[in-house]
Amino acid sequence: MDLGIAGKRALVTASSKGLGRGCAEALAAAGVELVLNARGSEALEETATAICAEYGVSVEAVAADITDEAGRAKVLEVAGQVDILVTNAGGPPPGMWTDWEREDFIKALDANMLAPIALMKAMVPGMMERGWGRVVNITSVSVKAPVPVLGLSNAARAGLTGYVAGTSRQVAPSGVTINNLLPGIHATDRMINLDASAARLAGTTPEEERKKRLGTIPAGKYGDAKDFGATCAFLCSQQAQFIVGQNILLDGGATNLSM
Ligand code: NAP
Repeated sequence: MDLGIAGKRALVTASSKGLGRGCAEALAAAGVELVLNARGSEALEETATAICAEYGVSVEAVAADITDEAGRAKVLEVAGQVDILVTNAGGPPPGMWTDWEREDFIKALDANMLAPIALMKAMVPGMMERGWGRVVNITSVSVKAPVPVLGLSNAARAGLTGYVAGTSRQVAPSGVTINNLLPGIHATDRMINLDASAARLAGTTPEEERKKRLGTIPAGKYGDAKDFGATCAFLCSQQAQFIVGQNILLDGGATNLSM
């Protein structure tokens, strides 16, 4: 299927690995020129080189922390004018409700609410002027089904979801769509770390925790970053112009909203 976005330019933040990389690869496969970002430059350069070699699109890489203002300014300067924005950042650590103080909440809000909002505020006005734009925010299943050990993530993502609900309807008349993509459990480094941390808390092994988690997913497997990326690319397509302000869950059926 031709997504109709070949030659467009996209910024995908936090994209050297995992779900961000999945989105970047799927956009590259659709012919989109890319600006990639992550804090560590080694994996970032490797990913940029690999994507450029496989898909023949231009790929620029900016090593910076997208959750702080200076890092974001660096990324925005290189990105310039983009047609497509995919926002992503690392997720906050798990814990108990008693673990977190004000500073922990500020950090989580900076990463998973205020950074995507700042990126949208920087990029969406240009998209509106040009009459076309696509924004996809990578959020979490926790928006629909809060995860008990991820209180920081639950809190920050709820704030972003509320912001997008209003903003997406305000910008839609200018040809710009904003949607959120909600990953359930996907096989990325983040999930390997969460399995390890659950094992430490429960006194088990990461393999046992993985087995337990698999038992909660009707599809019987962890999600694949490439499939996640393909959904993101579709949301960025011409054909997705009527999808506005949605929270799209990719979780293998784990969240049973009818119960
Ligand atoms: P991942 O495999 O750990 O990859 C994270 C990527 O983001 C890496 O490229 C990392 O590179 C980059 N990154 C992290 N913090 C950054 C920052 N401050 N600035 C710039 N780049 C940054 O994570 P993932 O599983 O793809 O998860 C992506 C997002 O989806 C997270 O917010 C996570 O909480 C959420 N999520 C994931 C799952 C899942 O099952 N995987 C489920 C629900 C929600 P550097 O470390 O070099 O910066």
